[in-house]
Amino acid sequence: MVRQPHHGADSLWAATAPPAPVTGRLEGEVTAPIAIVGAGYTGLATALYLARAGIKAVVVEAEDVGFGASGRNGGHCTPTFHFRADHSLATIRAQYGARAAPLIALQTGAAERVFGLIAQYNIDCEAVRVGCLHAAHRPGAMRLLEAKHADYAALGRPCRLVDKAEMQTLTGANVFHGGWLYEDAGHLNPLGYARGLAAAALQEGARIFTRSPVAKIVRTGSNWRVTTPSGAVTAERVVIATGAYSGAAWPRLERAYAGIAIASAATAPLDAAARAAILPGNHHLVDTRPEPFGIKYDGHGRLTTAVVVSGRRGADRGYTERLLTERLQWTWPQIGAVRWQHYWLCTIDVRPELLPRLFEVAPGVLGIVGFSGRGVPTATALGSVVADYLGGASEHALPIPIEPLRPVPRLTKLAARVMMPYFRFKDRRAIRRDGLEVPRGY
Ligand SMILES: Cc1cc2nc3c(=O)[nH]c(=O)nc-3n(C[C@H](O)[C@H](O)[C@H](O)COP(=O)(O)OP(=O)(O)OC[C@H]3O[C@@H](n4cnc5c(N)ncnc54)[C@H](O)[C@@H]3O)c2cc1C
Repeated sequence: MVRQPHHGADSLWAATAPPAPVTGRLEGEVTAPIAIVGAGYTGLATALYLARAGIKAVVVEAEDVGFGASGRNGGHCTPTFHFRADHSLATIRAQYGARAAPLIALQTGAAERVFGLIAQYNIDCEAVRVGCLHAAHRPGAMRLLEAKHADYAALGRPCRLVDKAEMQTLTGANVFHGGWLYEDAGHLNPLGYARGLAAAALQEGARIFTRSPVAKIVRTGSNWRVTTPSGAVTAERVVIATGAYSGAAWPRLERAYAGIAIASAATAPLDAAARAAILPGNHHLVDTRPEPFGIKYDGHGRLTTAVVVSGRRGADRGYTERLLTERLQWTWPQIGAVRWQHYWLCTIDVRPELLPRLFEVAPGVLGIVGFSGRGVPTATALGSVVADYLGGASEHALPIPIEPLRPVPRLTKLAARVMMPYFRFKDRRAIRRDGLEVPRGY
């Protein structure tokens, strides 16, 4: 069992998202063609796309819509593959062969899909679509961004390299050594988006039950019975979309990802002068550190950012807020005093290949995990793939194969906690070798 940090009661998004649609507990016996466990982006997008195809699934959620990572993430919607150097399109093509082209099209089209759903269903989630700034934290990191740019520009995606001077104009900071602007990206209130997806799925005819933890999923003849404390769904097929919160529903699924705990924090709203001086174009920003520094505004001018939990980082709120204050003041000295308002924890489901997998954990039961920090675009898009498959599309036509469960190597689980401090140490050494000051709050 992955140890979960406590629920983000002090989450910015819980304090600011519009209310969820009204849903109730699962009571008694229900039948449906498909039962979906988990009301995060994966489960909700699957239910939405299924309903649009005329298949009315039932979603069963242990807590509330968006309780997991979908309601507590950073809200960045960046439809590229991971920033890591070894996640080039060449790597994707080598790994996925004939599926690579549809997979790349799915991922690079995912912001269009997310913002399209937001417009179509009038989802109130502070949606902003102005692009993502990838910032080089040391001069050598520009090589990585140049390679990323070459990859995506060759696909015809809207993006451009940005020199140090323009980076200063776009960010208000003079600590970056250039950057890459990926224009087809945006950001949003993640819980607002999850709740909006739930409302859209209901509108299209799906059913959603909350406060209904699935305790077991068992075969009954040719069907599956998905049981909660007060009811059960009998369905031909089951989708387990429990992300990093997998456990009771299908315990073996926990072996298929490494859970990395993340602490997120949000400042109080900045005043107009600070807002005009810091990320004035309202881009979301991610830098090239091994543990990236990601930051964005919410819809009320609060800056929100996060760190991987390791040692006192993340686990000790006061310590982490001081570290993040140093980081913000080093990056933007003009920010002045920083007042933190919200602080919450959550867990990411990481696969070594940094892409989600579709596991057939039993005949007719799919388990979907491994978004590795890219769920806003990727889980939304994958919902359409899963719906296509359940609607009758051939497995060969899918951009991601359906496979037997593949556990992550033990080392991946360790890497999360142990390797990150080592990568930071190595990166600080490289920064010193460049003759630069190590960023404060690093
Ligand atoms: C701190 C953080 C920051 C992130 N930032 C970003 C970002 O900026 N951009 C981005 O694209 N992605 C980001 N991600 C990743 C993204 O949030 C996830 O990939 C995505 O939300 C996964 O969605 P999901 O539906 O698969 O899982 P989840 O949203 O975790 O949903 C799983 C649901 O299953 C439910 N569940 C579990 N067990 C049961 C059970 N037995 N019975 C019933 N229900 C059950 C849980 O309660 C939960 O609601 C971030 C993740 C974290 C943790």
